[in-house]
This record gives sequence, C-alpha cells and structure tokens, in this order.
Amino acid sequence: MKRSDVLTWDEYFMGLAHLSAKRSKDPNTQVGAAIVNDQHKVVSIGYNGFPNGCHDDDFPWEREGDFCATKYPYVVHAELNAILNSSTNLQGCSIYVSLFPCNECAKAIIQSGIRRVVYESDKYADTDGTIASKRMLKAAGVELVQIPYTIDLQVSKKENK
Ligand SMILES: [Zn+2]
Repeated sequence: MKRSDVLTWDEYFMGLAHLSAKRSKDPNTQVGAAIVNDQHKVVSIGYNGFPNGCHDDDFPWEREGDFCATKYPYVVHAELNAILNSSTNLQGCSIYVSLFPCNECAKAIIQSGIRRVVYESDKYADTDGTIASKRMLKAAGVELVQIPYTIDLQVSKKENK
C-alpha cells in the first residue's frame, strides 16, 4: 500500500517557503518565498535579508528610530529575492509566501510574469500597502489564493553516529 497522508503540492511548496524563511537573520519577521512552475518544479526560492555585500553586522535590524537606522531602507523582501534569484523566465509561475506580498513586491511579481500568489497570513490586510498591493495584483489578473491553515515547520538536528 502506498502512503496516502503525503503533503499536498500546496503544503509541500509552502513548507519549502517556511524552510527558506529559517535562513532569515531578521529577529522579528522571517518570511520565505518559493516560486514554482506549472510542472510543479521549483524554479526559485528566497527569504528576507540585506543585499549582497551589505552585511548583517554593519546594517540595522531595528524597526524604530531614524529611517536610515532601521531595516526598512535596506531589506530585500523574500518575494523580490526569490524573483531576483531566479535564473529562468517566471512567466506563468506561482509564488508561495507565508505573508501576503507588500505593494513593492506586488509590482515585481506582476512584472516577472508570475500569475498566482499562494499565501497564508493576511494580517496586514487593512494597511494601505496591502490595499494597494491587492489593487495592482487584481488589475493585472494575478490569482490570489489563501490557504486556510498555516504550515508549522519544525527543523531539528540529531548528531550522526
Ligand atoms: Zn515586499
């Protein structure tokens, strides 16, 4: 008998986004993204972090204070990193992300040709950024799919014998 309790494709790719988020050094918000083509092949992956050459020891992760002393001007969101990390055309792909994309990432998603956004949390739905994001994504005909649960990924290490 084959196993019947396997992860669905959506669970599998969202789990991958969560695994990627575990690379983020942001002390407050870890977001991961996975981009998948219509053949169920992973074509890219990313998490929120600073640009290449901008080291975590030199740039701030603060959320409050003078703008240039916070993370906001420097951090690259998971979705944008996944788009920029791709070495292939993203036309027709789906992006899996734990949190609904912001308006800046929405622009990159649309321009990259991604046609479907699968997300878990929409906790910033009432913010101007998310309202603008949805307005653009809907106008561009990008499908928005919220999965009704959150994948909880636990990674543990055991010493090899
Ligand atoms: Zn974003």
